[in-house]
Amino acid sequence: MPEPPAPEVDLSRTYDAVVIGSGAAGGMASHVLTAHGLKVLLLEAGKKLPIEKELRSMEWPYDNAYRGGLPPHSHSINFNEYTIRKPPFGPGFEKSKHLYSYIGNSDYVKNIVVDERENPYTGTNYAWVRARCLGGKTNIWGRLALRLSDYDFKAKDRDGFGENWPISYADLAPYYDKVDLYLGITGVKENLPYLPDSLFQRPTKLNCAELTLKSGIQKMGRVLTQYRAGVTSDGLKHNKYRSRCYGRGACSRKGGCDIHAAFDSPTGLIYPALDTGNLTLRTNSVAREITVDPKTGKASGVHFIDTETRADYHVKARVVIVAASTLESARLLLLSKSRQHPNGIGNSSNHVGHNFCEHMMGPGIYGRAKDLAGKPPTLDDGRPGGFYLTRFRNLQEKHGKFIRGYGFEGGSGCSMFPAGTDAKGFGADFKEEVRKNQGAYIGMGAFGEVLARYENYVDLDPTVKDKWGIPALRFHYKFGENEYKMAEDMKETAQEMFDAAGFETVHVSSRVLTEGWSIHELGTARMGDDPKKSVLNQFEQSHDVKNLFVVDGSAFVNASCQNPTWSIMALCWRSCDYLADELRKGNL
Ligand SMILES: Cc1cc2nc3c(=O)[nH]c(=O)nc-3n(C[C@H](O)[C@H](O)[C@H](O)COP(=O)(O)OP(=O)(O)OC[C@H]3O[C@@H](n4cnc5c(N)ncnc54)[C@H](O)[C@@H]3O)c2cc1C
Ligand code: SF4
Repeated sequence: MPEPPAPEVDLSRTYDAVVIGSGAAGGMASHVLTAHGLKVLLLEAGKKLPIEKELRSMEWPYDNAYRGGLPPHSHSINFNEYTIRKPPFGPGFEKSKHLYSYIGNSDYVKNIVVDERENPYTGTNYAWVRARCLGGKTNIWGRLALRLSDYDFKAKDRDGFGENWPISYADLAPYYDKVDLYLGITGVKENLPYLPDSLFQRPTKLNCAELTLKSGIQKMGRVLTQYRAGVTSDGLKHNKYRSRCYGRGACSRKGGCDIHAAFDSPTGLIYPALDTGNLTLRTNSVAREITVDPKTGKASGVHFIDTETRADYHVKARVVIVAASTLESARLLLLSKSRQHPNGIGNSSNHVGHNFCEHMMGPGIYGRAKDLAGKPPTLDDGRPGGFYLTRFRNLQEKHGKFIRGYGFEGGSGCSMFPAGTDAKGFGADFKEEVRKNQGAYIGMGAFGEVLARYENYVDLDPTVKDKWGIPALRFHYKFGENEYKMAEDMKETAQEMFDAAGFETVHVSSRVLTEGWSIHELGTARMGDDPKKSVLNQFEQSHDVKNLFVVDGSAFVNASCQNPTWSIMALCWRSCDYLADELRKGNL
């Protein structure tokens, strides 16, 4: 379906709302506010890419000049390089014309992720993955779509650490339902209090090794369920831009779904919002400062730079909605200094950039279901995901060594490129060995909660600037003792569960990947009831500036261990309903 035309921006008018960033959060804000009849301007720093030409999910590897890899003179930073080098990345990589984060290691995503040299950052080691284009990271996200529960919202009540959220699951549940129905999600009901069910469409199927693991761990009281994918498997009658999932198999390739069965913000949210006639979209527009009315101290609009011409513009708005992704949003708030807000807008608490949290990754296991070796191949590529093994730590009993929990994402089965079959040798015998055994392998990796601590934070670098002259972000962020103890436990439990399933272990590890690897950064402008200890209220509205909202992962109070995107969108929907109501009442 052709994309709707986007009207030109009119800088002489005052928009009802300006939304900064077009990913999951900015897309959702655009959808909800335009549905309320507000006139919205959406500013996106990146380009609008011809996304189907980028993703090419039906292209065979042998039709690609680089077999899907990066072209010559391009490089994506790997784990060892993140470990031994320090940001800003560039020195040491002089031979590479283009330099990407670790995710940018394929021909299909090289234009979606940023060039690290144009977008530097400094400070402690961090693998920061950014996608600067219409739709942001939703073009390539992994689609695991999970809900949070009161085990997360009220975690402090359980272990005394950090803060509770100012909301409960009951406040957000109706909005999770709206997101499920509007965007589509696959999965199976499990009735778990700590991982609430969604309104699921047709689920994917577990394969033989996955079912073996599921029944193997049942006796331990642990739950393995089908991947809860932010994918429409039954189709969405109200959305003409998205197809249902045909299980074509390209999901295992990094890069998105070019029939848009998997949710992405442009086809899921922004094109339908453009169809209302209430949305104006301007791409190539980097917001560099939220401006303030000197009389009232309220937000008055946004300064932005055209990335192609470098011209600097100002747009006026009644409400400013920041949705540039957790770290970019913090950067923009800190950049927006004025007489009324000398530490950055909305930062009277000095909490902007702090309490930064995410998920820790690395520990995992790889093994073999011996009795599946030599069985005929099965079609396992044709699924948007494998399985999710839900949290089991610190739910009923307290673990003696760490607080909070973790889950595992995993999968098994045959694929176009059988990976890690641990077969040795070369030539025809090697190929035969790989073919024979590929369906028997199964692996899973853990995602654990990183505690939200004030001392983990980002601020502005005093000297380093990006390509457009905007001060870069500086990281002061490290995993702590709780995370490393949890990593040890992840390894032990992975091993005990594979043993219970009768799998032969090929490799098991507690090695923790570089900070940032999960791409689930959260918490830099947390919500709360106390303006001294939080930046936003429960509607993601600034305590200091009532017509300023921050609607992305910045608002999270803790990271939980569930992937955040579905919660970002449910929270954003709730906040934008409130915003529209307040604006109508003249309260903003
Ligand atoms: C490979 C990969 C796998 C992932 N897997 C999962 C998963 O399985 N489950 C899950 O829940 N999450 C997953 N994520 C994370 C998920 O993509 C993010 O949580 C989600 O996209 C966050 O939405 P956002 O709107 O906050 O940020 P983004 O999607 O990053 O969008 C932010 C947008 O703001 C724009 N922007 C930034 N700064 C400015 C500025 N100054 N002015 C104007 N625009 C600006 C950016 O260009 C970008 O388009 C994954 C991410 C990646 C990359
Ligand atoms: S398996 Fe489904 S969601 Fe994944 S790329 Fe294919 S059609 Fe898209």
